[in-house]
Amino acid sequence: LTSGLETAWNKLKGEEVLSKENIVEPMRDIRRALLEADVSLPVVRRFVQSVSDQAVGVGVIRGVRPDQQLVKIVHDELVQLMGGEVSELAFAKSGPTVILLAGLQGVGKTTVCAKLANYFKKQGKSCMLVAGDVYRPAAIDQLSILGKQVDVPVYAAGTDVKPSEIAKQGLEEAKKKKIDVVIVDTAGRLQIDKTMMDELKEVKRALNPTEVLLVVDAMTGQEAAALVTTFNLEIGITGAILTKLDGDSRGGAALSVKEVSGKPIKLVGRGERMEDLEPFYPDRMAGRILGMGDVLSFVEKAQEVMRKEDAEELQNKIMSAKFDFNDFLKQTRTVAKMGSVSRVIGMIPGMGKVTPSQIRDAEKNLQNMEAMIEAMTPEEREKPELLAESPVRRKRVALDSGKTEQQVSQLVAQLFQMRVRMKNLMGVMQSGSLPTLSN
Ligand code: GDP
Ligand code: MG
Repeated sequence: LTSGLETAWNKLKGEEVLSKENIVEPMRDIRRALLEADVSLPVVRRFVQSVSDQAVGVGVIRGVRPDQQLVKIVHDELVQLMGGEVSELAFAKSGPTVILLAGLQGVGKTTVCAKLANYFKKQGKSCMLVAGDVYRPAAIDQLSILGKQVDVPVYAAGTDVKPSEIAKQGLEEAKKKKIDVVIVDTAGRLQIDKTMMDELKEVKRALNPTEVLLVVDAMTGQEAAALVTTFNLEIGITGAILTKLDGDSRGGAALSVKEVSGKPIKLVGRGERMEDLEPFYPDRMAGRILGMGDVLSFVEKAQEVMRKEDAEELQNKIMSAKFDFNDFLKQTRTVAKMGSVSRVIGMIPGMGKVTPSQIRDAEKNLQNMEAMIEAMTPEEREKPELLAESPVRRKRVALDSGKTEQQVSQLVAQLFQMRVRMKNLMGVMQSGSLPTLSN
């Protein structure tokens, strides 16, 4: 995946900006790289579409090459695809936290049991393992050995007791001993079958677990997402643990689990040692897939600088009362870019309840303003005084924009009012005190 994506960046070397035309080739490479990494076609389609849209709309950042910008866009989209934030494990409000593990045979369930116990022990929590795989005596022995290794008690009851019964007994025992976290191992099958699902449902009913985690093997690629979906529909799970990531070079399994199943990957296993279990960080995973950490932090810094410079420039203009129609337009377009007016209004505290007609009016108002500003000459936009002084100019703007002279006059007046208001506000913000409302 990493090398496939590199081809994409290389095609942008020498370009000045990202455009609809010059991203066609790189997007094709990205698409191919994702498909080769075993990401499913619908997911790839959505991904490519979203990245293309963002790439074309992205502004130029000084000193940042287009290929670097595309790396950043792809990275952020990968993070989103994998669920954005890290998904923490839940803990029970009272009594022991119960974690039920499910999954096919050989994926690493029993290993994960011990790894999890080790993980919680390091956080100062007491743990107990429950041997719910009763089909092979060897499975119980394996859990006992691993339990000893991490120094955690293992509850086992032999191969002639039903798994749901063992689970219940184990939980009772844990409650008596005031254990913080109970981790229940279960039996897997080579393939999904009804007996396994029924058994899991029964165990789940007996335990009422805090977390039901499906353990999936990263080597199964796209199949991982399908498995998570099926188990979720059948027994209801809270998340997945992706194991054997150390052996998976393609990285495709991690990409589509969240998108396809709606359930997050909560933890990943990267080896056979007890320490090889960690939370799943979408941004680190994306970074690892891209293998370009330096480019990412560089673009982030450049974006930060640009935002700061923009803000400073605006502030200077406001302070010197030079806020003009170009700034006005920039501001209204920023608002438009943030989503519809209704969403922006919804974000302002105390403005929660706005009627749909008020929103429509506000949106219409913005459109009118844009039309009038577009009908102004560059000089008029920079020097609103010209319009304030000349009725002839206002008449021309009205005619060209299809609005009334009165509307143009209002807009000009509004800009001057805004200058005053912004200057006052800026002064207040700099003096650090807020005005008190009087009426
Ligand atoms: P179960 O049948 O689901 O209980 O699977 P096991 O826990 O018995 O694991 C099957 C094999 O996979 C064992 O040999 C483990 O050592 C190995 N294994 C488990 N997790 C990992 C991992 O993250 N990386 C690697 N390389 N091997 C693992
Ligand atoms: Mg096992």
